[in-house]
This record gives sequence, C-alpha cells and structure tokens, in this order.
Amino acid sequence: MVELRSEAIVLRVVDFGESDRILHMLTPCSGRITAMARGAKRSRRRFSGALDLFHYVSFQGVRSGTSSMLRLEQASLLDDFSGLRTELSRFGFGCHFLEMADRLVPEGMAAPDAQPLFDYALSVLQLVESKTIDLRWYILLQLHSLKAFGLSPLFHRCVRCGREDKLPGSAGPVEGKIAFHVGEGGVVCPDCRRGQEGFLLVHAGTLRSLEQGMSLSLDQLHRLRLGGEVLEEAKEIIERFQHFHLGLELKTESFLEEILSPARRSIA
Ligand SMILES: [Zn+2]
Repeated sequence: MVELRSEAIVLRVVDFGESDRILHMLTPCSGRITAMARGAKRSRRRFSGALDLFHYVSFQGVRSGTSSMLRLEQASLLDDFSGLRTELSRFGFGCHFLEMADRLVPEGMAAPDAQPLFDYALSVLQLVESKTIDLRWYILLQLHSLKAFGLSPLFHRCVRCGREDKLPGSAGPVEGKIAFHVGEGGVVCPDCRRGQEGFLLVHAGTLRSLEQGMSLSLDQLHRLRLGGEVLEEAKEIIERFQHFHLGLELKTESFLEEILSPARRSIA
C-alpha cells in the first residue's frame, strides 16, 4: 500500500454504481491519475463537494499493489473556478482544455515534468475565468496549450530540410503563401515540396503570428492582434493539426464551434 497526498485538478468525472465516482485528475506529482471515490455521492464528510469538474482540490488516497487506480480517501476544495460556469464561452473552453489535458497528459510522469504542466493548467483556468473566449482567444489558447502538452507545429523553418531562409518572405516583407503539411506538423519550403501536392497554403503573416503566439507567455498573449483572414487560416491549421496528431476530434470541439460560430457572434 502506498499513500499519496497531493493536489489535483479534476479533469473528468464518471458516476459509477449507486454512489461511487471514477475521476481523472491532473496532479503535480505524477501527471494524470485515475482515482475511485467510494461513496462520493453520499459522503460530504470525506469529500465535501470537492469532486467535480474544474475543481482544484487537495486529496489523500491509497494505491495498492500493482493497481494503477488510486483509492481516494478524502478530498477538500481549494478553488472551484466558479467563474468558468458564469459564461458560456468560458465554460466551453474550460471543458475543452480539460479534455485536451485528459487526452495528452500521460499517467506516471516524474514530478519535475508534471509540476510545470500542473502549474500551467492552473494558470489557464485562472485566465479563462475572467475572459470572454472569442475566436481569437480560442486560437491563441489552443495553440499555446498544444505546445504546453508537447504538440508544437513548426512554423518558422522547413520541417524537412530545417532551413529558415528557404521560406517565402523570410528575407523581407513578401507576403507569399507557404505550404503547411498537416501530417508532418510543419511548413515545407518550395525546394522540398517541388512537384508535390496535399499541402495547406497559408499566408506567411499568419504563420508569423502563430509563431509569435507560441513564444509569448500566457500573461503576454493579450498583446497579439489577429485579423479576420489570419483567424480563419489559423483556425483551419490548428484544427487539422490537432485532429491528425490526436487521431480524433475532441468531444468538446463541436460544442465550442457552436459557441464561436459567426451566426452566434453576430447575435452577441
Ligand atoms: Zn525544405
């Protein structure tokens, strides 16, 4: 038996049987963990309403033998991020972010790797809690999060030959279009793509903006302005990149799509 005391963000909750809950949680000590909370729906003494989506909790649990599932003994709430539930776009992006973390953060991470991811997730939830998430914020946060979770598209140099100077516009303000290969996860210079098809053609300015977005910290993201055409191009790149490299469409994507759609934006 190994006892574990730590903090966690609740990523996913599944009711199990009459009163139990299975949880996926992001922890600073070992990344994602799966936990069983026996009697979670009945015991306010042990769990005091802590085991819900978005909740930042401190917990105590026990792992026995070779089981990968933690038995949760007790949990208390540190922050419920209630602001995420007061506005639809915040709630939508919050759910989307938790689903990404649930898919992309592995179990059994070493603490030095898990701690920065945990801190990052807390910072994103804190930021989103005070924002209305429009298409621009969605693009910026989505790209930033993918990078934090280890999935970075390559925008500033050719993914095949590695050269920056071969990309159109690299030597000056030429606004040419650059080929982006979704499967290879990056841009491809004209020499390397010669005679081949199957690329997304994207304005150099869009790629520069996305590269800049990935290099800024969360606190600095608000500085980056993205115009209409850049947003549409960026959205297509990021969505196709994510579908290919995750191998699926996240469940929260269509929900977010609905919230961020032009029809809804014009009503708002
Ligand atoms: Zn090349």
